[in-house]
Amino acid sequence: MRSVHWQHAGEEVFDVLILGGGITGASLYGELCRHGWRTLLLDKGDFASGTSQSSGMMVWGGLLYLRAGDVLTVFRLSRSRDRMLEELGSWTAPAAFHYIPPLKGGLPSLFIGAGLGLYWLLGAGRRRLPWYRRDYAEAALVSQHVHRGAFCYEEALLRSSDARFVLHWLTPHQPPGRAAVNYCEVESCDYARSDGVWHLVLRDRLRGVTTGARARLIVNCAGVWADALNRQQGIETPYRHALSKGVYLGLARAEEHRSPLIFDMGAHDDVMTYVPWGPVALWGPTETAIEEIGEGLTPQPADIRFLLETANRHLRRKVGPEDIVSLRCGIRALAVDRDYVATRYPLELSRRSIVHPERDLPWITAYGGKLTGSRELAGKIGRMIRHRVPPSLPPSALDTETPAAAPCSFPGLDQPVASPRWCREREFCCTLEDYLRRRTNIAQWLPREGLGRNGENRDALLVAARELYDGDPAAAGEAVARYDETVAVRFDKLLGEAV
Ligand SMILES: Cc1cc2nc3c(=O)[nH]c(=O)nc-3n(C[C@H](O)[C@H](O)[C@H](O)COP(=O)(O)OP(=O)(O)OC[C@H]3O[C@@H](n4cnc5c(N)ncnc54)[C@H](O)[C@@H]3O)c2cc1C
Repeated sequence: MRSVHWQHAGEEVFDVLILGGGITGASLYGELCRHGWRTLLLDKGDFASGTSQSSGMMVWGGLLYLRAGDVLTVFRLSRSRDRMLEELGSWTAPAAFHYIPPLKGGLPSLFIGAGLGLYWLLGAGRRRLPWYRRDYAEAALVSQHVHRGAFCYEEALLRSSDARFVLHWLTPHQPPGRAAVNYCEVESCDYARSDGVWHLVLRDRLRGVTTGARARLIVNCAGVWADALNRQQGIETPYRHALSKGVYLGLARAEEHRSPLIFDMGAHDDVMTYVPWGPVALWGPTETAIEEIGEGLTPQPADIRFLLETANRHLRRKVGPEDIVSLRCGIRALAVDRDYVATRYPLELSRRSIVHPERDLPWITAYGGKLTGSRELAGKIGRMIRHRVPPSLPPSALDTETPAAAPCSFPGLDQPVASPRWCREREFCCTLEDYLRRRTNIAQWLPREGLGRNGENRDALLVAARELYDGDPAAAGEAVARYDETVAVRFDKLLGEAV
């Protein structure tokens, strides 16, 4: 599948080229393909290998941002949440979030009730009215020394994963007229005013081969890398991204844990969420302002110590590094004015999204955004594109239901996962890590990124790798050995340092 898309990338003049295959680029791709634009999407890594594989998977109106007075963002996100619930029911599920104020200090109950009422109103009353519960099943998980009952309100969660949600926008669209290529680097990119077309040289990072590509308009959806991409092209806009790192711990989920718990931490008006997801529950995220992308790509021992300390303060069960099943780490791209000086705590910054078109070049940059508002952002960019480059194909029907993946089982998981062959042939899956982390949740739901606490899943990984590498035992063996080494550094060593 990928080779067909790669070959097609060089064959025609596309109306639009999207750079970046996270949720922003993927939703835009789905939107443009559906409305008849010849569209090419490229990602320098795997699809969803940036921030979009590390979210909390909450489809929510952004209650927290209300505290910073960002009413407009809350209004927009609430609308997006409800639209996702309505139109993407197989991907999203309503969930009763439990907001748990601290026992001492914190906001008065009346204030919390009024805030939730306002939040509900900003969502135009489309969700259940907020309600208060002194007793609830998850109370058994909460330390009774620090918390009283819970204020409940309705939001939504992604059903499978954020990474699979990204794929959902990419896989239905096939050449001709549409192509999506992962592990594809842009070696050069020049705009020719003579023919009004961008001319690019692309490099397939897996095979080392190059090809030419052409497009009338480019949209930069590179998330936290968007500023670097603009700089590379000599493009300066009135905006940039401020960066905030977020880390989650995956802990074994207790059976009674069915609803997301939102713990009010008091400091900085921050919260910690505890979100059930398959056999794990995600505790976090951290919120750390960083200057460089390199500082935010992996968790640090201090992040883990902080998360364990907060978990031990707020949860009844005591947890240590040995209880961590998995880690998630991502960087939030927060849209700020170009001259913004980083003085504020990241949570105080607006989660707005901005779309900036260049006046003299067919180049558009997307700033900020959330998984929840991704469809609205795609719609906004689509309307902007329509003024510059009209679609050259007839529109096609909206494809919200992707075909069910061929299932297979994996030891330790009671739910089936998509088979490696299916993922290779139908979902652009190229490496063992793509399969374990983004096509399935094996690397997040089983200890040590799927290997098992004592490496007991190594044989199962080998079987998966063989299927992925088309029966080539040498390639499969090498892939598993490499994965083993990566996990030793990225997980075992890190947790050792966090003790
Ligand atoms: C800890 C955390 C928790 C979050 N939780 C939630 C949540 O619960 N709900 C919610 O709605 N939102 C949440 N978010 C926000 C949400 O995850 C992000 O807004 C969203 O994933 C950003 O998607 P994106 O496509 O803009 O960026 P990314 O996902 O980072 O995608 C950018 C892509 O561009 C590619 N790229 C970079 N440079 C180039 C280049 N030169 N050429 C080609 N490709 C390139 C990258 O490889 C990457 O795949 C959370 C974020 C974090 C960090």
